Amino acid sequence: MELKGKKVLVVGLGKSGLAAALFLRRRGAQVTVSDLRSAAALSKEIPSLLEAGIAVEAGGHGLLTFRRQDLIVVSPGVPLLTPELVQVRHLGLPVIGELELAARFLKGDVLAITGSNGKTTTTTLCGEIFSASGLKTLIGGNIGVPVIEMVDQSAAGTWSVLEVSSFQLETTESFHPRVAIILNITPDHLDRHGTFENYVAMKEKIFANQTGEDYLILNGDDPVAQRAASRAKSQVFWFSRSKIVRRGTLLMNGMVMFRASEQASLMPVLPLADIPLKGQHNVENVLAAVCAACLAEIPAEVIARTVASFHAVEHRLEFVAAIRGVDYYNDSKATNVDATAKAIASFPGNIRLILGGKDKNSDYTQLHALLKERVKVVYTIGSAAEKIEGQIGRVTKVVSVGTLAAAVDRAATEAVAGDVVLLAPACSSFDQFENYEHRGRVFKQAVMARQGAGVWQNA
Ligand code: ADP
Repeated sequence: MELKGKKVLVVGLGKSGLAAALFLRRRGAQVTVSDLRSAAALSKEIPSLLEAGIAVEAGGHGLLTFRRQDLIVVSPGVPLLTPELVQVRHLGLPVIGELELAARFLKGDVLAITGSNGKTTTTTLCGEIFSASGLKTLIGGNIGVPVIEMVDQSAAGTWSVLEVSSFQLETTESFHPRVAIILNITPDHLDRHGTFENYVAMKEKIFANQTGEDYLILNGDDPVAQRAASRAKSQVFWFSRSKIVRRGTLLMNGMVMFRASEQASLMPVLPLADIPLKGQHNVENVLAAVCAACLAEIPAEVIARTVASFHAVEHRLEFVAAIRGVDYYNDSKATNVDATAKAIASFPGNIRLILGGKDKNSDYTQLHALLKERVKVVYTIGSAAEKIEGQIGRVTKVVSVGTLAAAVDRAATEAVAGDVVLLAPACSSFDQFENYEHRGRVFKQAVMARQGAGVWQNA
């Protein structure tokens, strides 16, 4: 794709938008960026853009800015239903995302991981296994480094291990991973995608360009992900905690096993007991990663060693402290109902659960059975508190505490030895925090403050 002299508009100046703009400019395009935020709010980004020779439109989008372009690159945070984008798409102007732009230039093979939950954990684990095997590995996408920043380092023989979200997949056209993983599909982001069907369709775009030479790894225990198999042209492999799959990864006699085909014999990879992460959902993440690694022909001993030494990624069911017999866990990344369900299911009982934040049009009644079975009390925080109480108040005790610090104080005061205080809020964080990381840090700080002596980093 020739960019020299092309007029390109980048919409949205997040991390990936900024990286895309600079990339396009380096390749000789005439670049404008447009963002809803004011010039003052963009004061951090503007100097490097101006220095690179990029024009900046701040404080909203002008329709003419959109019409004078050869290509429009939208950031994942910008909905395609933004009126200006709807209009230019009607006019036939190409509108793509940063992932698609990068895909057109990236060299080597791609392992792409999507799903409603578990992407970051699985991507990080896959990245560690691929690197440990000696393969030249780049890791990024929806975590860490934007894909466009990986382009210049990629070469034939490189594996790019990418976390991809439904927002990123929405604006792909030619994205073509050699290996794709769909971990699970449960309702999330319905505020953006409208219907569950639309959301599923976005996830399924991960394999839209795959051919018979490529691999698609699906969760054999997830009914929605299973249905994708009939639409794939690639070779489908499965991972399952409960079934003996025809090909892929499975559990048998306390071992994680892989088989390459129905006729092939089962290859033991590692003992189930060696998985150091909490929760059955993490077993699924490991099974998916092991399957991808086996398909890349990475030796079992490298896989086993790397899995056994893997640590939970920060804010994903992360152990914080044990104080007077009470365990504190930070699962701030549980930003939807299914992730919260998985977090609750990871403990046998005596849970004091902190729920709430910004609602995403979610259905909290899905938690009823688990709440009844394992949760002593729910402390609600943030703007979703009233809705949550309305939906779960009949099945469990709910205390509205308002803020996270108040929730930790109240839980710590009421907890007895053997209890678990769990932040797994089932909501996004933007009502009270900058992001889920900020929320997780505030939680950890509040917990450590209860401990008296301790070391922590301020949020
Ligand atoms: P993502 O990048 O998809 O958001 P993360 O690995 O960051 O995934 O985990 C997000 C949340 O989902 C965390 O609360 C984590 O504990 C939970 N989780 C991780 N893996 C799974 C899974 N396979 N199924 C359901 N929940 C999961």
